[in-house]
Amino acid sequence: MSCLGLAYLIESETINDMDLFDLLVAKISSGYNKVMVTVEDGRNFVADAAIITVPIGVLKANLIEFEPRLPDWKVTAISDLGVGNENKIALRFDKVFWPDVELLGVVAPTSYACGYFLNLHKATGHPVLVYMAAGRFAYDLEKLSDESAANFVMLQLKKMFPDACEPVQYLVSHWGTDPNSLGCYSYDLVGKSMDVYDKLRAPLGNLFFGGEAVSLDNQGSVHGAYSAGVMAAENCQKYLWEQQGNLESFSRVSARHETLGTNFPLQISRI
Ligand SMILES: Cc1cc2nc3c(=O)[nH]c(=O)nc-3n(C[C@H](O)[C@H](O)[C@H](O)COP(=O)(O)OP(=O)(O)OC[C@H]3O[C@@H](n4cnc5c(N)ncnc54)[C@H](O)[C@@H]3O)c2cc1C
Repeated sequence: MSCLGLAYLIESETINDMDLFDLLVAKISSGYNKVMVTVEDGRNFVADAAIITVPIGVLKANLIEFEPRLPDWKVTAISDLGVGNENKIALRFDKVFWPDVELLGVVAPTSYACGYFLNLHKATGHPVLVYMAAGRFAYDLEKLSDESAANFVMLQLKKMFPDACEPVQYLVSHWGTDPNSLGCYSYDLVGKSMDVYDKLRAPLGNLFFGGEAVSLDNQGSVHGAYSAGVMAAENCQKYLWEQQGNLESFSRVSARHETLGTNFPLQISRI
């Protein structure tokens, strides 16, 4: 997915309390220039502002309660964006029996069963193929047991390689039903207004919104999520400086960040 691996991005940032990553936010209360974030075990964290970067699927499913409720225009923006699904079924074999290519495609009579295998052997040296299933097909695969999903994918593979050996291990993602994601990519729904992204991105007082869905022009990508996060952080910082009457200092900090940003070796590509 990324030529450097996403851990690189995380390690490059200063994150001191990794335990916080294990906590799901249940409620966000804002008012009186403070935000209180309540996590699932009942603990509260109070801050001057918060940046919300949960996936659009989580916002759509109302898994986080907002107090006061989000305004109607924000709720409409959330519901007016689509969320698509894609799943990976990774198959590890004890030997390589396929050609040394990047992709192995399955052309089916219907678009439903079209799919492709990524050849991870080329990139990692390990005998691994990853089947990519998208859209309705990806949701339907999640209704199967992992074993049945792997068996289905093996049927696809055997259409190309009748003598394919059985995998020694498999791993199946469930991004459509995983409560941490509830889908994979935001997308434009036909007939919805053009300003849906602006509304989704717009801050609400001391609440700021990040994540791939609010990216200016790279939705559905790591670099889009990254730039949206940087933008939300800068807007949040500007808000806090304004609160403290220190906006002039903000401009100087911002300029320094731009200089640093040009040296940051972010290299992400979609294969
Ligand atoms: C199969 C697949 C292949 C892809 N391939 C590529 C590719 O090749 N190149 C590319 O650029 N992009 C690719 N993408 C897209 C890219 O991964 C996403 O756009 C990007 O990771 C989104 O980042 P994000 O920070 O917006 O959301 P996420 O990375 O989903 O982060 C959201 C975080 O919010 C957390 N969260 C959810 N609910 C709560 C809660 N209630 N409380 C607290 N935390 C919560 C989640 O645990 C998660 O850590 C791919 C995506 C998929 C699914």
